[in-house]
Amino acid sequence: MDVNTIKTQCCIVGGGPAGMMLGLLLARVGIHITVLEKWPDFFRDFRGDTIHPSTLQILHTLELLEKFLALPHNEMRNISVTICGEQIPVADFSHLNVYCKFIAFLPQWDFLNFLAEEAKKYPTFSVMMGAEAIDLIRDNEKIIGVRAKKGDEPFDITCDLVVGADGRHSVVREKLQLPLKTLGAPMDVLWFRLSRYENEAIHSLGRIDAGKMMVMIERGDYFQCAFVVPKDDFEKIKSEGLDQFRKKIVDIAPMLKDRVHALTSWDQIKLLVVTVDCLKKWYQPGVICIGDAAHAMSPIAGVGINLAVQDAVAAANILIPAFLNYALSIDDLSKIQKRRLLPTYITQRVQLFMQNHLVSPALQGKISVPWPFKLLQKFPFLRRIPGRMIGMGARPELPQHKLRGNVCQ
Ligand SMILES: Cc1cc2nc3c(=O)[nH]c(=O)nc-3n(C[C@H](O)[C@H](O)[C@H](O)COP(=O)(O)OP(=O)(O)OC[C@H]3O[C@@H](n4cnc5c(N)ncnc54)[C@H](O)[C@@H]3O)c2cc1C
Repeated sequence: MDVNTIKTQCCIVGGGPAGMMLGLLLARVGIHITVLEKWPDFFRDFRGDTIHPSTLQILHTLELLEKFLALPHNEMRNISVTICGEQIPVADFSHLNVYCKFIAFLPQWDFLNFLAEEAKKYPTFSVMMGAEAIDLIRDNEKIIGVRAKKGDEPFDITCDLVVGADGRHSVVREKLQLPLKTLGAPMDVLWFRLSRYENEAIHSLGRIDAGKMMVMIERGDYFQCAFVVPKDDFEKIKSEGLDQFRKKIVDIAPMLKDRVHALTSWDQIKLLVVTVDCLKKWYQPGVICIGDAAHAMSPIAGVGINLAVQDAVAAANILIPAFLNYALSIDDLSKIQKRRLLPTYITQRVQLFMQNHLVSPALQGKISVPWPFKLLQKFPFLRRIPGRMIGMGARPELPQHKLRGNVCQ
């Protein structure tokens, strides 16, 4: 069967934070980019909402910050959690040496739409919505493109580099059969909305009590709630009935008592399966994985989006000179992994520590305030350490290359 073939320099599979940021950065310098996104729009509810100071600093460097902050958002300058009814300040961003000393909360679809609109201003950028990668095209050992489909219509994209930015269930990494190290997660997340009164504020991002754990994010006229449950327990929770589930919500967040009855069906509650893993090798000739496709992140501390964006910036900084000099080699791909492996390792180990010392005991009903939290409560200056880790990550990246592409008028 003859299939339509598109030729480009770089095909990015996945229009999430990693893929859209990389697409924007490469298109800015005139590199021909095609992003494939399998869904017709970015409007899905299972995405995290946190844009950290490190990502805001990248937008500042790209002179996009002012425009971005004009989008409706909330700003969080420090983080507190409530453990066994006690509010504990955990992270303070006020000392960070960056333009925005806060986390911006806004629905991720707004962030992705923003990146897409900015990227579309460059003539070498194209994003194909509703286009799903289904296989890789090989020439002997080298990947030379992607087989995709839009609706029932298959098509090929041939290119110098394929970037797998297609998230935790990456088709690119599956087709490459890259060796994977699974680090494990003791929990899954139940994701639902409950209404919010005008100006109603929550002072703690997370609430943890014996056997219960919930995160609440303010989103305009509703709270996005993430109720944490032991891994694979959703069916058991369903069998206990909605009444019991609503009671658990009120136990951990009594303020929701007057509206929890709005949850009338399990269809309103989505299961998000948590995985934490890391590829041992992120690349092969002609292809590299970044973001969650290279290392699926736990939702703990909400750093996954920002780590994915950092991967994209590091990748762009290494790929741009290689593309512009027509000298892209496997060494460049190896440099990307080398640069991003350590920050990934550190972040995932901190997440595992939190999983083992806070989440697991809490879900088993054996909760007490862990000693690092006691120290944070007692010595305010220590809150700068989580502030730095959460706000900036282990190796913050900034775009190094100036604008070269022509902006479409
Ligand atoms: C329950 C939960 C809550 C979280 N909350 C937060 C949070 O608040 N803050 C935070 O920073 N992180 C959070 N994370 C982590 C965060 O969601 C990820 O780390 C981050 O989204 C990774 O970005 P990415 O671009 O690598 O991948 P993704 O965001 O997964 O994007 C991948 C994209 O690729 C597309 N795609 C997939 N397959 C194909 C295909 N075959 N062809 C074409 N397109 C494809 C997908 O549709 C998607 O748009 C959370 C994770 C979980 C599980």
